[in-house]
Amino acid sequence: MLLILQSYLKPFFTLIKEDTMFRKVLVANRGEIAVRVIRACKELGLKTVAVYSQADEDSLHVHLADESVCIGPPLSVDSYLKPAQIISAAEITDADAIHPGYGFLAENAQFAQMCEKSGVTFIGPSPENIRMMGDKSLAKENMQKAGVPTVPGNKGILKDVDHAIEAAYQIGYPVILKASAGGGGKGMRIVGDVDGVQKTFKVLQGEAQAAFGSPDLYIEKYIQRPRHIEVQLIGDTHGNVIHLGERDCSIQRRHQKLVEEAPSPAVSDELRDYIGGVSVQGAKGIGYRSAGTIEYLMDDQHNFYFMEMNTRIQVEHPVTEWITGVDLVKEQIRVAMGEKLSVTQADIHLHGHAIECRINAEDPSRNFAPSPGQITAFHAPGGIGVRVDSHCYTGYHIPPFYDSMIAKVITHGHTRQEAIARMRRALEEFVIEGVNTTIPFHLKVLEDPTFLEGTIDTTFIERIHFK
Ligand code: ADP
Repeated sequence: MLLILQSYLKPFFTLIKEDTMFRKVLVANRGEIAVRVIRACKELGLKTVAVYSQADEDSLHVHLADESVCIGPPLSVDSYLKPAQIISAAEITDADAIHPGYGFLAENAQFAQMCEKSGVTFIGPSPENIRMMGDKSLAKENMQKAGVPTVPGNKGILKDVDHAIEAAYQIGYPVILKASAGGGGKGMRIVGDVDGVQKTFKVLQGEAQAAFGSPDLYIEKYIQRPRHIEVQLIGDTHGNVIHLGERDCSIQRRHQKLVEEAPSPAVSDELRDYIGGVSVQGAKGIGYRSAGTIEYLMDDQHNFYFMEMNTRIQVEHPVTEWITGVDLVKEQIRVAMGEKLSVTQADIHLHGHAIECRINAEDPSRNFAPSPGQITAFHAPGGIGVRVDSHCYTGYHIPPFYDSMIAKVITHGHTRQEAIARMRRALEEFVIEGVNTTIPFHLKVLEDPTFLEGTIDTTFIERIHFK
Protein backbone atom coordinates (compact mmCIF):
# COMPACT_ATOMS: atom_id res chain seq x y z
CA MET A 1 0.00 0.00 0.00
CA LEU A 2 2.76 2.35 1.06
CA LEU A 3 4.70 1.52 -2.09
CA ILE A 4 1.70 2.28 -4.26
CA LEU A 5 1.18 5.56 -2.48
CA GLN A 6 4.86 6.48 -2.86
CA SER A 7 4.92 5.82 -6.59
CA TYR A 8 1.65 7.68 -6.98
CA LEU A 9 3.04 10.73 -5.21
CA LYS A 10 6.50 10.66 -6.82
CA PRO A 11 5.66 12.74 -9.90
CA PHE A 12 3.99 15.25 -7.62
CA PHE A 13 7.07 15.58 -5.39
CA THR A 14 9.38 15.78 -8.42
CA LEU A 15 7.33 18.65 -9.77
CA ILE A 16 7.37 20.47 -6.43
CA LYS A 17 11.14 20.00 -6.14
CA GLU A 18 11.73 21.43 -9.61
CA ASP A 19 9.28 24.21 -8.91
CA THR A 20 11.26 25.35 -5.90
CA MET A 21 14.27 26.21 -8.04
CA PHE A 22 12.78 28.28 -10.84
CA ARG A 23 9.42 28.60 -12.47
CA LYS A 24 9.89 30.75 -15.52
CA VAL A 25 12.61 30.57 -18.18
CA LEU A 26 13.40 33.31 -20.67
CA VAL A 27 14.79 31.95 -23.93
CA ALA A 28 17.41 34.38 -25.24
CA ASN A 29 17.39 33.11 -28.79
CA ARG A 30 15.32 32.63 -31.93
CA GLY A 31 14.69 29.99 -34.60
CA GLU A 32 14.64 26.26 -34.05
CA ILE A 33 16.72 26.29 -30.86
CA ALA A 34 14.29 28.68 -29.15
CA VAL A 35 11.48 26.27 -30.08
CA ARG A 36 13.55 23.32 -28.80
CA VAL A 37 14.17 24.99 -25.42
CA ILE A 38 10.53 26.07 -25.02
CA ARG A 39 9.43 22.47 -25.64
CA ALA A 40 11.82 21.19 -22.95
CA CYS A 41 10.55 23.82 -20.47
CA LYS A 42 6.93 22.84 -21.11
CA GLU A 43 7.71 19.20 -20.43
CA LEU A 44 9.31 20.23 -17.14
CA GLY A 45 6.26 22.30 -16.16
CA LEU A 46 8.11 25.61 -16.50
CA LYS A 47 6.62 28.80 -17.89
CA THR A 48 8.42 30.40 -20.83
CA VAL A 49 9.21 33.87 -22.12
CA ALA A 50 10.27 34.44 -25.73
CA VAL A 51 12.26 37.47 -26.79
CA TYR A 52 12.14 38.60 -30.39
CA SER A 53 13.36 41.31 -32.72
CA GLN A 54 10.99 43.37 -34.85
CA ALA A 55 11.73 40.97 -37.73
CA ASP A 56 10.69 37.90 -35.73
CA GLU A 57 7.23 38.80 -34.49
CA ASP A 58 5.73 35.89 -36.45
CA SER A 59 8.35 33.34 -35.58
CA LEU A 60 7.12 30.06 -34.07
CA HIS A 61 9.00 30.54 -30.80
CA VAL A 62 6.94 33.68 -30.10
CA HIS A 63 3.70 31.73 -30.65
CA LEU A 64 4.75 28.80 -28.49
CA ALA A 65 5.97 30.74 -25.45
CA ASP A 66 3.63 31.79 -22.64
CA GLU A 67 4.79 35.39 -22.89
CA SER A 68 6.93 37.39 -25.29
CA VAL A 69 8.91 40.62 -25.26
CA CYS A 70 10.18 42.60 -28.25
CA ILE A 71 13.83 43.46 -27.59
CA GLY A 72 14.64 45.72 -30.50
CA PRO A 73 15.17 46.23 -34.23
CA PRO A 74 15.94 43.39 -36.68
CA LEU A 75 19.75 43.46 -36.63
CA SER A 76 21.05 41.06 -34.00
CA VAL A 77 23.54 43.65 -32.69
CA ASP A 78 20.49 45.73 -31.75
CA SER A 79 18.43 42.87 -30.28
CA TYR A 80 19.60 39.30 -29.64
CA LEU A 81 23.12 40.52 -28.84
CA LYS A 82 22.02 43.17 -26.32
CA PRO A 83 22.57 41.77 -22.80
CA ALA A 84 20.91 44.70 -21.02
CA GLN A 85 17.72 44.44 -23.09
CA ILE A 86 17.46 40.71 -22.49
CA ILE A 87 18.04 40.98 -18.75
CA SER A 88 15.46 43.78 -18.54
CA ALA A 89 12.99 41.50 -20.34
CA ALA A 90 13.68 38.82 -17.70
CA GLU A 91 13.11 41.34 -14.92
CA ILE A 92 9.88 42.70 -16.40
CA THR A 93 8.43 39.22 -16.85
CA ASP A 94 9.75 37.86 -13.56
CA ALA A 95 11.71 35.10 -15.26
CA ASP A 96 14.16 33.44 -12.89
CA ALA A 97 16.42 31.80 -15.47
CA ILE A 98 17.74 32.46 -18.98
CA HIS A 99 18.53 29.78 -21.54
CA PRO A 100 20.87 31.24 -24.17
CA GLY A 101 20.57 28.46 -26.83
CA TYR A 102 23.58 28.53 -29.18
CA GLY A 103 25.21 31.46 -30.98
CA PHE A 104 24.31 35.04 -29.94
CA LEU A 105 25.14 35.37 -26.20
CA ALA A 106 25.53 31.66 -25.42
CA GLU A 107 29.30 31.88 -25.04
CA ASN A 108 29.52 35.40 -23.72
CA ALA A 109 31.05 35.25 -20.23
CA GLN A 110 30.10 38.83 -19.45
CA PHE A 111 26.45 38.09 -20.17
CA ALA A 112 26.53 35.01 -17.93
CA GLN A 113 28.03 37.18 -15.21
CA MET A 114 25.42 39.90 -15.68
CA CYS A 115 22.69 37.27 -15.28
CA GLU A 116 24.23 36.07 -12.03
CA LYS A 117 24.52 39.63 -10.72
CA SER A 118 20.87 40.29 -11.55
CA GLY A 119 19.82 37.18 -9.66
CA VAL A 120 18.77 35.32 -12.82
CA THR A 121 20.15 31.80 -13.32
CA PHE A 122 22.18 31.43 -16.50
CA ILE A 123 21.43 27.96 -17.87
CA GLY A 124 24.97 27.09 -18.83
CA PRO A 125 28.47 26.86 -17.39
CA SER A 126 30.11 29.34 -15.04
CA PRO A 127 31.35 32.65 -16.52
CA GLU A 128 34.93 31.53 -15.65
CA ASN A 129 34.56 28.35 -17.71
CA ILE A 130 33.08 30.25 -20.65
CA ARG A 131 35.93 32.75 -20.55
CA MET A 132 38.57 30.07 -20.24
CA MET A 133 37.28 28.03 -23.17
CA GLY A 134 36.27 31.05 -25.30
CA ASP A 135 39.89 31.99 -25.76
CA LYS A 136 40.91 29.10 -27.99
CA SER A 137 44.61 29.41 -27.30
CA LEU A 138 44.07 29.52 -23.52
CA ALA A 139 41.62 26.61 -23.79
CA LYS A 140 44.30 24.53 -25.45
CA GLU A 141 46.77 25.23 -22.65
CA ASN A 142 44.19 24.30 -20.01
CA MET A 143 43.28 21.07 -21.75
CA GLN A 144 46.95 20.16 -22.11
CA LYS A 145 47.29 20.59 -18.35
CA ALA A 146 44.36 18.20 -17.84
CA GLY A 147 46.10 15.58 -20.01
CA VAL A 148 44.02 16.04 -23.16
CA PRO A 149 45.99 15.53 -26.43
CA THR A 150 46.14 18.74 -28.49
CA VAL A 151 47.14 19.68 -32.06
CA PRO A 152 50.91 20.29 -32.19
CA GLY A 153 51.41 24.03 -32.24
CA ASN A 154 52.82 27.06 -30.62
CA LYS A 155 51.65 27.90 -27.14
CA GLY A 156 49.88 31.22 -26.79
CA ILE A 157 49.34 34.21 -29.02
CA LEU A 158 51.71 35.05 -31.87
CA LYS A 159 53.50 38.36 -31.27
CA ASP A 160 54.15 39.22 -34.91
CA VAL A 161 54.77 37.75 -38.33
CA ASP A 162 58.37 36.71 -37.48
CA HIS A 163 57.11 34.85 -34.45
CA ALA A 164 54.60 33.07 -36.72
CA ILE A 165 57.33 32.13 -39.22
CA GLU A 166 59.54 30.75 -36.48
CA ALA A 167 56.66 28.78 -34.94
CA ALA A 168 55.65 27.41 -38.35
CA TYR A 169 59.24 26.26 -38.91
CA GLN A 170 59.21 24.39 -35.59
CA ILE A 171 55.82 22.76 -36.30
CA GLY A 172 56.46 21.98 -39.98
CA TYR A 173 54.25 23.03 -42.92
CA PRO A 174 51.37 23.02 -43.68
CA VAL A 175 50.12 24.99 -40.71
CA ILE A 176 46.85 26.67 -39.86
CA LEU A 177 46.65 30.22 -38.53
CA LYS A 178 43.62 30.78 -36.31
CA ALA A 179 41.91 33.70 -34.62
CA SER A 180 41.94 33.08 -30.90
CA ALA A 181 38.46 34.53 -30.49
CA GLY A 182 37.19 32.91 -33.73
CA GLY A 183 34.23 30.62 -34.25
CA GLY A 184 31.69 29.33 -36.71
CA GLY A 185 34.35 28.07 -39.08
CA LYS A 186 35.60 31.61 -39.65
CA GLY A 187 38.95 33.26 -38.94
CA MET A 188 41.36 30.55 -40.05
CA ARG A 189 43.76 30.00 -42.97
CA ILE A 190 45.81 27.05 -44.10
CA VAL A 191 49.32 28.09 -45.05
CA GLY A 192 51.83 25.97 -46.97
CA ASP A 193 55.07 27.98 -46.75
CA VAL A 194 56.89 31.06 -45.42
CA ASP A 195 55.55 33.19 -48.22
CA GLY A 196 52.04 32.18 -47.22
CA VAL A 197 52.58 33.20 -43.60
CA GLN A 198 53.93 36.57 -44.72
CA LYS A 199 50.97 37.19 -47.00
CA THR A 200 48.32 35.95 -44.58
CA PHE A 201 49.33 37.13 -41.12
CA LYS A 202 48.33 40.82 -41.25
CA VAL A 203 45.23 40.20 -43.36
CA LEU A 204 43.92 37.57 -40.94
CA GLN A 205 44.69 39.81 -37.96
CA GLY A 206 42.55 42.52 -39.57
CA GLU A 207 39.75 40.05 -40.28
CA ALA A 208 39.87 38.71 -36.72
CA GLN A 209 39.69 42.23 -35.29
CA ALA A 210 36.71 43.09 -37.48
CA ALA A 211 34.80 39.85 -36.92
CA PHE A 212 35.62 38.90 -33.34
CA GLY A 213 36.91 42.12 -31.76
CA SER A 214 40.43 40.78 -31.18
CA PRO A 215 43.39 40.51 -33.59
CA ASP A 216 45.02 37.68 -31.60
CA LEU A 217 46.18 34.75 -33.71
CA TYR A 218 47.68 31.37 -32.84
CA ILE A 219 49.14 28.65 -34.97
CA GLU A 220 48.93 24.88 -35.15
CA LYS A 221 49.78 21.99 -37.42
CA TYR A 222 47.35 21.47 -40.27
CA ILE A 223 46.16 17.89 -39.91
CA GLN A 224 45.74 16.36 -43.37
CA ARG A 225 42.30 14.99 -44.17
CA PRO A 226 41.15 14.55 -40.58
CA ARG A 227 37.76 13.60 -39.26
CA HIS A 228 35.95 16.02 -36.98
CA ILE A 229 34.99 14.00 -33.93
CA GLU A 230 33.39 15.63 -30.90
CA VAL A 231 32.43 14.29 -27.50
CA GLN A 232 29.20 15.36 -25.80
CA LEU A 233 29.56 16.03 -22.08
CA ILE A 234 27.28 17.05 -19.30
CA GLY A 235 28.18 17.92 -15.74
CA ASP A 236 26.32 19.00 -12.62
CA THR A 237 27.23 21.20 -9.67
CA HIS A 238 27.98 18.13 -7.54
CA GLY A 239 31.19 17.29 -9.41
CA ASN A 240 29.67 14.64 -11.70
CA VAL A 241 30.60 14.76 -15.39
CA ILE A 242 29.64 12.08 -17.93
CA HIS A 243 30.12 11.68 -21.67
CA LEU A 244 27.42 10.62 -24.11
CA GLY A 245 29.64 9.26 -26.85
CA GLU A 246 30.90 11.01 -29.94
CA ARG A 247 29.49 12.65 -33.03
CA ASP A 248 31.17 12.63 -36.43
CA CYS A 249 30.83 16.04 -38.08
CA SER A 250 33.26 15.57 -40.94
CA ILE A 251 30.81 16.64 -43.65
CA GLN A 252 31.59 20.34 -43.74
CA ARG A 253 31.63 23.15 -46.23
CA ARG A 254 34.08 25.95 -45.54
CA HIS A 255 34.68 24.54 -42.04
CA GLN A 256 30.94 24.62 -41.31
CA LYS A 257 29.06 21.45 -40.46
CA LEU A 258 26.33 20.23 -42.81
CA VAL A 259 25.71 16.61 -41.81
CA GLU A 260 26.40 15.06 -38.41
CA GLU A 261 26.05 11.51 -37.20
CA ALA A 262 26.40 9.42 -34.09
CA PRO A 263 28.15 7.15 -33.46
CA SER A 264 31.09 7.81 -35.79
CA PRO A 265 31.60 5.02 -38.33
CA ALA A 266 35.33 5.22 -37.50
CA VAL A 267 35.23 5.00 -33.71
CA SER A 268 35.38 1.59 -32.02
CA ASP A 269 34.00 0.93 -28.54
CA GLU A 270 37.55 0.97 -27.10
CA LEU A 271 38.37 4.25 -28.81
CA ARG A 272 35.07 5.73 -27.53
CA ASP A 273 35.90 4.72 -23.97
CA TYR A 274 39.33 6.27 -24.32
CA ILE A 275 38.30 9.59 -25.85
CA GLY A 276 35.19 9.81 -23.65
CA GLY A 277 37.34 9.25 -20.57
CA VAL A 278 39.91 11.84 -21.64
CA SER A 279 37.14 14.37 -22.30
CA VAL A 280 35.52 13.80 -18.91
CA GLN A 281 38.96 14.25 -17.34
CA GLY A 282 39.40 17.53 -19.24
CA ALA A 283 36.00 18.84 -18.14
CA LYS A 284 36.52 17.78 -14.54
CA GLY A 285 39.94 19.46 -14.64
CA ILE A 286 38.26 22.84 -15.09
CA GLY A 287 35.28 22.10 -12.82
CA TYR A 288 32.83 22.14 -15.70
CA ARG A 289 29.05 22.07 -15.28
CA SER A 290 26.20 22.04 -17.82
CA ALA A 291 26.23 20.66 -21.38
CA GLY A 292 29.44 21.08 -23.35
CA THR A 293 31.30 19.54 -26.23
CA ILE A 294 34.98 18.89 -26.77
CA GLU A 295 35.93 18.95 -30.43
CA TYR A 296 38.80 16.90 -31.80
CA LEU A 297 40.41 16.18 -35.10
CA MET A 298 41.21 12.51 -35.68
CA ASP A 299 43.87 11.56 -38.22
CA ASP A 300 43.96 8.34 -40.26
CA GLN A 301 46.05 6.70 -37.52
CA HIS A 302 43.22 7.38 -35.06
CA ASN A 303 45.25 9.98 -33.18
CA PHE A 304 43.06 12.57 -31.47
CA TYR A 305 43.88 16.24 -31.21
CA PHE A 306 41.86 18.69 -29.11
CA MET A 307 40.62 21.68 -31.10
CA GLU A 308 38.24 23.53 -28.83
CA MET A 309 35.50 23.20 -26.27
CA ASN A 310 32.02 24.57 -26.96
CA THR A 311 30.44 25.65 -23.71
CA ARG A 312 26.82 25.44 -24.86
CA ILE A 313 24.22 23.13 -26.35
CA GLN A 314 25.10 22.49 -30.00
CA VAL A 315 23.05 22.43 -33.19
CA GLU A 316 23.76 18.72 -33.63
CA HIS A 317 22.75 17.59 -30.12
CA PRO A 318 19.67 15.61 -31.34
CA VAL A 319 21.76 12.79 -32.85
CA THR A 320 23.22 12.12 -29.41
CA GLU A 321 19.80 12.38 -27.77
CA TRP A 322 18.46 9.76 -30.11
CA ILE A 323 21.11 7.12 -29.60
CA THR A 324 21.37 7.64 -25.81
CA GLY A 325 17.75 8.45 -24.93
CA VAL A 326 18.89 11.44 -22.83
CA ASP A 327 17.07 14.75 -23.32
CA LEU A 328 20.09 17.03 -23.18
CA VAL A 329 18.17 20.30 -22.89
CA LYS A 330 16.03 19.08 -20.01
CA GLU A 331 19.12 17.69 -18.31
CA GLN A 332 20.85 21.04 -18.83
CA ILE A 333 17.91 22.85 -17.19
CA ARG A 334 17.82 20.40 -14.27
CA VAL A 335 21.51 20.74 -13.49
CA ALA A 336 21.13 24.54 -13.63
CA MET A 337 18.54 24.08 -10.86
CA GLY A 338 21.25 22.44 -8.79
CA GLU A 339 19.99 18.89 -9.29
CA LYS A 340 22.28 15.93 -9.76
CA LEU A 341 22.56 14.37 -13.23
CA SER A 342 19.66 11.93 -13.64
CA VAL A 343 21.97 9.35 -15.25
CA THR A 344 25.42 7.96 -14.50
CA GLN A 345 28.09 6.88 -16.98
CA ALA A 346 27.01 3.27 -16.50
CA ASP A 347 23.47 4.17 -17.66
CA ILE A 348 24.68 5.41 -21.03
CA HIS A 349 24.30 2.81 -23.77
CA LEU A 350 24.21 3.62 -27.46
CA HIS A 351 21.30 2.34 -29.52
CA GLY A 352 21.40 2.32 -33.31
CA HIS A 353 22.57 5.18 -35.50
CA ALA A 354 21.34 8.77 -35.98
CA ILE A 355 22.05 11.32 -38.71
CA GLU A 356 21.22 15.01 -38.94
CA CYS A 357 21.03 17.17 -42.07
CA ARG A 358 20.99 20.94 -41.61
CA ILE A 359 18.53 22.43 -44.08
CA ASN A 360 19.48 25.96 -45.04
CA ALA A 361 17.54 28.49 -47.09
CA GLU A 362 20.36 28.78 -49.60
CA ASP A 363 20.78 28.14 -53.28
CA PRO A 364 23.40 25.39 -53.81
CA SER A 365 23.49 26.18 -57.56
CA ARG A 366 24.45 29.80 -56.80
CA ASN A 367 27.34 29.02 -54.47
CA PHE A 368 25.01 28.67 -51.49
CA ALA A 369 23.76 32.25 -51.67
CA PRO A 370 21.16 32.96 -48.94
CA SER A 371 17.58 32.61 -50.13
CA PRO A 372 15.33 34.50 -47.70
CA GLY A 373 11.66 35.22 -48.40
CA GLN A 374 8.26 33.75 -47.83
CA ILE A 375 7.72 30.00 -47.49
CA THR A 376 4.60 29.38 -49.56
CA ALA A 377 4.30 25.69 -48.62
CA PHE A 378 5.90 23.77 -45.77
CA HIS A 379 5.19 20.10 -45.12
CA ALA A 380 7.65 18.38 -42.82
CA PRO A 381 8.34 14.67 -43.22
CA GLY A 382 7.23 12.16 -40.59
CA GLY A 383 6.92 8.46 -39.99
CA ILE A 384 9.07 6.09 -38.01
CA GLY A 385 12.55 7.27 -37.08
CA VAL A 386 12.19 10.91 -38.24
CA ARG A 387 12.49 14.09 -36.14
CA VAL A 388 12.24 17.61 -37.53
CA ASP A 389 13.28 20.60 -35.44
CA SER A 390 12.18 23.83 -37.10
CA HIS A 391 10.60 27.20 -36.48
CA CYS A 392 9.07 27.42 -39.95
CA TYR A 393 5.55 26.89 -41.27
CA THR A 394 3.52 27.67 -44.39
CA GLY A 395 3.36 31.45 -44.79
CA TYR A 396 6.43 32.09 -42.59
CA HIS A 397 8.70 34.82 -43.87
CA ILE A 398 12.42 34.02 -43.51
CA PRO A 399 14.08 37.29 -42.53
CA PRO A 400 17.37 38.13 -44.26
CA PHE A 401 19.11 39.16 -41.02
CA TYR A 402 20.09 35.86 -39.45
CA ASP A 403 21.54 32.43 -39.96
CA SER A 404 20.06 30.64 -42.96
CA MET A 405 19.27 27.35 -41.18
CA ILE A 406 15.52 26.73 -41.38
CA ALA A 407 15.21 23.12 -40.24
CA LYS A 408 17.12 20.13 -38.95
CA VAL A 409 16.07 16.70 -40.10
CA ILE A 410 17.24 13.87 -37.87
CA THR A 411 16.70 10.21 -38.65
CA HIS A 412 17.41 7.09 -36.63
CA GLY A 413 17.85 3.48 -37.67
CA HIS A 414 19.13 0.22 -36.25
CA THR A 415 22.12 0.61 -38.54
CA ARG A 416 23.86 3.49 -40.32
CA GLN A 417 22.47 2.16 -43.58
CA GLU A 418 18.90 2.30 -42.29
CA ALA A 419 19.37 5.82 -40.89
CA ILE A 420 20.67 6.96 -44.30
CA ALA A 421 17.81 5.30 -46.21
CA ARG A 422 15.36 6.98 -43.84
CA MET A 423 17.04 10.35 -44.32
CA ARG A 424 16.76 10.01 -48.08
CA ARG A 425 13.10 9.10 -47.79
CA ALA A 426 12.46 11.98 -45.34
CA LEU A 427 14.19 14.60 -47.50
CA GLU A 428 12.25 13.44 -50.55
CA GLU A 429 9.03 13.90 -48.56
CA PHE A 430 9.99 17.37 -47.32
CA VAL A 431 8.10 20.11 -49.17
CA ILE A 432 9.47 23.64 -48.84
CA GLU A 433 8.26 26.05 -51.52
CA GLY A 434 8.92 29.72 -52.13
CA VAL A 435 12.63 29.66 -51.22
CA ASN A 436 15.64 27.60 -52.31
CA THR A 437 17.00 25.04 -49.88
CA THR A 438 19.99 22.76 -49.50
CA ILE A 439 17.81 19.61 -49.71
CA PRO A 440 18.96 18.72 -53.28
CA PHE A 441 22.56 19.09 -52.11
CA HIS A 442 21.99 16.74 -49.16
CA LEU A 443 20.38 14.16 -51.43
CA LYS A 444 23.56 14.17 -53.54
CA VAL A 445 25.75 13.67 -50.47
CA LEU A 446 23.51 10.82 -49.33
CA GLU A 447 24.14 8.84 -52.50
CA ASP A 448 27.87 9.42 -52.70
CA PRO A 449 29.84 6.12 -52.46
CA THR A 450 32.44 7.62 -50.08
CA PHE A 451 29.73 8.86 -47.76
CA LEU A 452 27.93 5.52 -47.91
CA GLU A 453 31.17 3.72 -47.06
CA GLY A 454 31.70 6.13 -44.17
CA THR A 455 35.28 6.92 -45.16
CA ILE A 456 34.69 10.65 -44.93
CA ASP A 457 36.97 13.46 -43.75
CA THR A 458 36.62 17.22 -43.42
CA THR A 459 37.80 17.83 -47.00
CA PHE A 460 35.09 15.55 -48.47
CA ILE A 461 32.83 18.32 -49.79
CA GLU A 462 35.67 20.38 -51.27
CA ARG A 463 37.44 17.37 -52.81
CA ILE A 464 34.44 15.56 -54.21
CA HIS A 465 32.36 17.24 -56.91
CA PHE A 466 30.25 19.40 -54.55
CA LYS A 467 32.01 22.71 -54.97
P1 ADP B 1 35.11 26.91 -35.23
O1 ADP B 1 35.05 27.28 -33.79
O2 ADP B 1 35.12 28.09 -36.11
O3 ADP B 1 34.12 25.86 -35.61
P2 ADP B 1 37.22 24.92 -35.12
O4 ADP B 1 38.49 25.17 -34.42
O5 ADP B 1 36.21 24.05 -34.44
O6 ADP B 1 36.55 26.31 -35.46
O7 ADP B 1 37.50 24.32 -36.54
C1 ADP B 1 36.50 24.13 -37.52
C2 ADP B 1 36.96 23.17 -38.60
O8 ADP B 1 38.17 23.66 -39.20
C3 ADP B 1 37.31 21.79 -38.11
O9 ADP B 1 36.19 20.95 -37.96
C4 ADP B 1 38.25 21.32 -39.22
O10 ADP B 1 37.53 20.94 -40.36
C5 ADP B 1 39.02 22.59 -39.55
N1 ADP B 1 40.29 22.66 -38.77
C6 ADP B 1 40.51 23.38 -37.65
N2 ADP B 1 41.77 23.20 -37.19
C7 ADP B 1 42.39 22.35 -38.03
C8 ADP B 1 43.71 21.76 -38.08
N3 ADP B 1 44.66 22.03 -37.19
N4 ADP B 1 43.98 20.91 -39.10
C9 ADP B 1 43.02 20.60 -40.02
N5 ADP B 1 41.78 21.13 -40.04
C10 ADP B 1 41.45 21.99 -39.06
